[in-house]
Amino acid sequence: MANIKRERMVIIGSGPAGFAAAVYAARAQLNPVMIAGDTLGGQLGLTHDIENYPGVFGGVSGTDLVERFKEQAEHFGTRIVYDLVHSVDFSTGTPFTVKTTDTTYLADSVIVTIGANPRKLNVPGEDTGVGRGVSYCGTCDGFFFRGKEIVVVGGGDSAIEEALFLTKFATKVEIIHRRDSLRAGVALQKRAFDNPKISFIWNSVVESIDAAADGVVSGVKLKNLVTGEVTDKPTQGVFIFIGHTPNSAVFGGQLATNDAGYVITDDLYRTNIDGVFAAGEIQDEQWRQVATSVGQGVSAAMSAIHWLQAREGSLQALDTEEAAPAAQ
Ligand code: NAP
Repeated sequence: MANIKRERMVIIGSGPAGFAAAVYAARAQLNPVMIAGDTLGGQLGLTHDIENYPGVFGGVSGTDLVERFKEQAEHFGTRIVYDLVHSVDFSTGTPFTVKTTDTTYLADSVIVTIGANPRKLNVPGEDTGVGRGVSYCGTCDGFFFRGKEIVVVGGGDSAIEEALFLTKFATKVEIIHRRDSLRAGVALQKRAFDNPKISFIWNSVVESIDAAADGVVSGVKLKNLVTGEVTDKPTQGVFIFIGHTPNSAVFGGQLATNDAGYVITDDLYRTNIDGVFAAGEIQDEQWRQVATSVGQGVSAAMSAIHWLQAREGSLQALDTEEAAPAAQ
């Protein structure tokens, strides 16, 4: 028989938004459960240097920061469960049902911070090339490309930041971008243009990823969108950074999303379901920073705390320092 647990708050996801929500909810004595998924920290755990999170810079990696988030959240009473959410039922009102592999949680409130995953090119050879030269994570796989020549696909901040990181390993990094100017911020652009290991292939898309007989990536077929010319480019690694897809499918259409699948929230991080809140990259298509996700997670937690207080008709059980609006 399934393990059934009754909870006041379930936080789905363990990225910056989830941990920030967990710290506030735990300090408000809600004893939250965080269902962490299979990668603690989400994409943050896959990020190399963090240098734009206020107060944190100088050799702090994503995994270091995740470890600090975890320590802090657990210190205040968050229970972290390493499991995946397989389905939810938000249709009944409270308690909401959140099902993981072996447990059914019945929760008074839910904060969804389940993030987004790297988008695929969806070209022939991409899926079979994963682990054999195709990657979506420089931090995870860069080391395997020491002394090799690689390509990076994309023109946003992620592509440029990862390309710069990959120059630590690869002898040559060519950035393939479908336009003739980058989307990335100017500071990153300048660093890339100044880096002697980085060059650009403009106005081009990858049509297929080719492999040798042993399955290891050997090159890409490129199409120049201006001339229509198709060329073969030998390469030993293809790193793809072309944006993300929000992980909203598990909610089975119960949470309202925009056309791209990002959960729609109001300015208090409330979803269309009363008592279900969302924060971080699952609802933020635009900024996607550690700092913005943390702020959203805090806001969602405070909204949830207020929502629970109003529902229970009592402030006594909660930490008023965190739960009440700031006293002036
Ligand atoms: P992004 O900003 O959406 O950029 C995606 C890039 O991939 C764009 O250059 C886009 O081209 C290209 N692209 C999309 N689909 C493609 C396809 N099918 N084939 C070829 N190219 C394709 O995504 P991101 O770089 O992951 O960044 C997401 C957000 O996170 C942004 O808001 C970014 O500022 C933020 N971020 C910030 C930092 C930082 O501040 N350190 C680091 C990483 C990410 P077009 O330009 O032509 O659309």
